[in-house]
Amino acid sequence: MLAAKLLDGKATAAAIQKEIRQKVSEFASQTGRTPTLAAVLVGDDPASAVYVRNKERACANVGIGSRLIRLDGTTTTSQLVDVVGRLNDDKEVSGILVQLPLPRQVDEQQVLDLIDPGKDVDAFHPVNVGLLSQGRARFLPCTPHGCLQVMWRNGISVSGRRAVVIGRSDIVGKPLAMLLGAKDSHLGDGMCNATVTICHSRTPDLAEICREADILVAAIGRAEFVKAEMVKPGAVVIDVGINRKGEGITGDVDFENVKKVASAITPVPGGVGPLTVTMLLENTLSAARQRV
Ligand code: NDP
Repeated sequence: MLAAKLLDGKATAAAIQKEIRQKVSEFASQTGRTPTLAAVLVGDDPASAVYVRNKERACANVGIGSRLIRLDGTTTTSQLVDVVGRLNDDKEVSGILVQLPLPRQVDEQQVLDLIDPGKDVDAFHPVNVGLLSQGRARFLPCTPHGCLQVMWRNGISVSGRRAVVIGRSDIVGKPLAMLLGAKDSHLGDGMCNATVTICHSRTPDLAEICREADILVAAIGRAEFVKAEMVKPGAVVIDVGINRKGEGITGDVDFENVKKVASAITPVPGGVGPLTVTMLLENTLSAARQRV
């Protein structure tokens, strides 16, 4: 029986943040400017507030400035459109992040589409999605990029391997499948050229398909959905899921049992999450550089 290597997202994120801190400091001394992330938080969803606080802390840790725009839960689409428009025009702001989900009355798509693509550090704007799909991304989407980094920095190459991604959302599953299967990647050969299958809620024989994966990614939003029987012995398992469990969180993978089968696995918490925030910092620095 294999004992999986733990892919420590916290340690990997700390190593990358150290590099970003150095680059931010070089950028600041060369240009006299501080890359700055503006986060827009609408309403009082406690999870969203925690995410935004984590992002502010991470910014401070690497020397990136942060600005928080807090709006109450009754904010309308047109009010939010005004706020985003002002941030687009603000020369001090390098990157804009609108924390999701937005309250029901807000047209989320309209707001996200309005963010200046050059400041779209989440890489959600259709222009940035298009550039990504053509292999000339301006920003890499944060969670998918984090999944690649946690493997690559722990000595795992995806090139030539069979990857199965469960989940086809615009935020995680779809862009991750695109990155894994890309022909070229400025990140290096080890982070692309996988042969990718995307699964979703209408996929028949899901377990059988998962068992073919050398790299299995779960981005579903269902606690402990991936069981040991669904994992090929020796596979690498990346758990993107965040599901509330009592006071804490749990992933989409049955960690205790899957770790006995996999060769490497990310924990939840402490896996992909810290990498997501870290890649946002990288995009903010990159946005500031692109504006020089
Ligand atoms: P979505 O709800 O947008 O997408 C979930 C996907 O899972 C859908 O494609 C859905 O299929 C698929 N799915 C649902 N049920 C099943 C099933 N029974 N069998 C197969 N596929 C299924 O979620 P997100 O992609 O936004 O997020 C996924 C998870 O990742 C969540 O737990 C979220 O909290 C977490 N997350 C974590 C981040 C991090 O930094 N660690 C960042 C972002 C998200 P269909 O399309 O058919 O409905």
